[in-house]
Amino acid sequence: MLQLARRMGRAKPSAIMAVAEKAKALKASGRDIISFSIGVPNFLPGDHVYAAAREALGKDSGQYGSNRGSDSLLDAFLNHIEAIGLSGYTRANCATGIGAKHVLYNLAEALLDEGDTIAYAVPYWTTYADIADICNAKVLELPCPASQNYKLTPAQLDAALATKPKVFLFNNPNNPTGMVYTRDEIAALADVVAKYPDTWIITDDIYNRMVFDGLGYHNFVHCRPELRDRVIFVDSLSKTYGMPGWRVGFIAGPESVAKALTTLNSNHITNIPEVVTAAAIAALSGPQDVPTAKNAEFQGKRDLVVATMNAIPGVICPTPQGAFYVFPDISCAYGKSHNGVAINSDVDLCNALLETKGVACVPGSAFGEPRALRISYTCPTAQLPEGLRRFQEFFAELS
Ligand code: PLP
Repeated sequence: MLQLARRMGRAKPSAIMAVAEKAKALKASGRDIISFSIGVPNFLPGDHVYAAAREALGKDSGQYGSNRGSDSLLDAFLNHIEAIGLSGYTRANCATGIGAKHVLYNLAEALLDEGDTIAYAVPYWTTYADIADICNAKVLELPCPASQNYKLTPAQLDAALATKPKVFLFNNPNNPTGMVYTRDEIAALADVVAKYPDTWIITDDIYNRMVFDGLGYHNFVHCRPELRDRVIFVDSLSKTYGMPGWRVGFIAGPESVAKALTTLNSNHITNIPEVVTAAAIAALSGPQDVPTAKNAEFQGKRDLVVATMNAIPGVICPTPQGAFYVFPDISCAYGKSHNGVAINSDVDLCNALLETKGVACVPGSAFGEPRALRISYTCPTAQLPEGLRRFQEFFAELS
């Protein structure tokens, strides 16, 4: 029998999608489902973005475009990142892709040979593990439980980088925890990074505009500009602008890396379509009122979710300061039962919660942390209190 490539034996579909699909099927069967599962922003971009796309359609050349990204898109991105203090980059430092996921996949192809090591903190965004598996890279996991606010410490990073991984992949603000590193924390980690010149650093910071409490967004290169020659900053339109389906992602980093991504693009995607490019430029360069308003709304929702979680006896819920996720440690429920069903894991709990209360959350094991679950709170505002009420009710019914 004909066989698929060995790497397909390691590739698996996204665990997050599996929960979302189950919730969708229950909804289609008539159940009243509130979804806290999928990490989509649930708002649409501003009208000017659609206007730009329509205008571009009117003059579409229909031709192939730049493998790196059009000059005007790269310029819009460069201006955009200057606003968060990432200045001094040129077009040659940048490349685009079909969303940050594609950019990260390209980076793995560009930086990791089979058997090389990639280090990242746990909990992690599921795709990191999946991409590492497909590339046959070794993974060095750095456990960051709720007791350390899900944050990596300088001592942990020091021990990890001393083993000379090829890549250290850092994610701030974080999915699934929503945690954001302060300037001091980033500076301390950057000091460690500076000691170890043999490791590429990827900062997947696609939620950099979604930071609450006036904390601000900080990157290693803000604190240590000399790290620029091996730090690769990853960004995306998906979450900030409510454009996950438009599929636009970016890097700013060393020229050699941007060139490698451009070469890979030339061999698979070729280019981002003209109409999407026009919409992306409008999002980056136009009025920022939609993302600003959404950020304020998410901060209010965060407060409600965290207050609810911390009111449940035994649940440990560090307060996130960004993105739109809360990641409570719910392991206090393990060993108990709900309506006669034993709850011994995050998967048991998420299944019982979905089946009995119609509330969909993603088990923490999808992110490498089986003591927790992820709540994505971008659902319609009116649904949030009801979803949280059901969540609380579920815990009150445990015996
Ligand atoms: N990085 C992180 C941390 C994410 O949470 C996501 C999406 O959920 C991505 C990257 C991918 O984003 P994109 O839609 O740009 O592919």
